[in-house]
Amino acid sequence: MTVILPGATLGVMGGGQLGRMFVHAAQRMGYFTAVLDPDPASPAGLVSHYHVQADYLDPQGLAELMQRSAAITTEFENVPAPALATLAAQRPVAPAAEAVAIAQDRAQEKAHFVRCGVPCAAHAVIETDAQLAAVGDRLLPGVLKTARLGYDGKGQVRVKNRAELAAAWEQLRRVPCVLEQLLPLAAECSVIVARSRDGQMVNLPPQLNLHRDGILAVTQVHEAHMPPAQAAQAIDATRAIAEGLRYVGVLCVEFFVLPDGSLVVNEMAPRPHNSGHYSMDACDVSQFELQVRTLAGLPLSQPRQHSPAIMLNLLGDLWFAWADEERTPAWDRVLALSGAHLHLYGKRSARKGRKMGHLNITGPTAGAVRATALKAAALLGIEAF
Ligand code: ATP
Ligand code: MG
Repeated sequence: MTVILPGATLGVMGGGQLGRMFVHAAQRMGYFTAVLDPDPASPAGLVSHYHVQADYLDPQGLAELMQRSAAITTEFENVPAPALATLAAQRPVAPAAEAVAIAQDRAQEKAHFVRCGVPCAAHAVIETDAQLAAVGDRLLPGVLKTARLGYDGKGQVRVKNRAELAAAWEQLRRVPCVLEQLLPLAAECSVIVARSRDGQMVNLPPQLNLHRDGILAVTQVHEAHMPPAQAAQAIDATRAIAEGLRYVGVLCVEFFVLPDGSLVVNEMAPRPHNSGHYSMDACDVSQFELQVRTLAGLPLSQPRQHSPAIMLNLLGDLWFAWADEERTPAWDRVLALSGAHLHLYGKRSARKGRKMGHLNITGPTAGAVRATALKAAALLGIEAF
């Protein structure tokens, strides 16, 4: 494939915040952009040169996106794999439909981890009553997760025993599920890699992640946030997982850290990830620029983190932190803190649990960043960490 140089148009399936930040990165480098999303007010559609307002499987919409775009990526994990396959018949598409299809299905995803020699939680696939009855005791207590379409902890039920497991499967309408052993987590981390068509691979430094209610709340990336051997192991495992897929694009792999310091892979996302947003202000190449480079066939550049960083996720809850009615948080007070970088996604209304934006904090030292991040958290009504 020839390189697609700035001046061409890059397309993206999905118009959420990840698409918006891809569009910003592409435009900064001189590309035009086209977004396909049915929502007239989608965060990426609002800032793109072209917005194709159509459903993800609409043949006419897909044809228009193809006609506009020199190459197409995706920002949305549940983008129908058949739509990507249709696009790929006529345009370079990254990541490929096959890789996205594996990431969309927890059972297939875990099988891929095992193939790559990376340990994941003990688990069983549950699609039938017989499989439900055959579940081994060591998987309980466990977490029952729908095999498809889960995000931000949705489609998951924690179960202590067989009776709760059976009830949970009913509650999830008996769709195909994966039951995982509930692991004692000392911490969680993730790694983002980018892999080019010719197999060049670069990575961001591993991120330490704090989840609250199944949603990412805080990401920290600074010296001494992880033991170096653990960081190296997470990077190696992520690279093996990307290599095993012959992946092209940006891939994030999430890990659990167990009390003995060992790593267990949780899941992967075939796109930039919420935990990589700090790279926009703390690294010389962001995860979104990496996405542009992989899609356009440009050389990759190993990102260098130039500043310790903490990212605070800004959920819709903050709009209701001080009163029941919706109120815009005090951004002016937050922006008075030096090293605070505000990213809002242009969503018109706040809802609890909705990702409205993120705040990156950078500074000269890990201690300074932490002090600023705690001040920002207090101003916004985010629980200290
Ligand atoms: P995402 O928004 O990352 O796509 P998701 O809905 O796919 O989320 P998971 O990443 O599977 O969900 O789980 C969300 C969180 O729930 C994890 O980050 C972890 O904190 C907790 N969790 C999930 N599985 C387990 C497990 N087997 N043992 C202990 N905690 C777990
Ligand atoms: Mg997750």
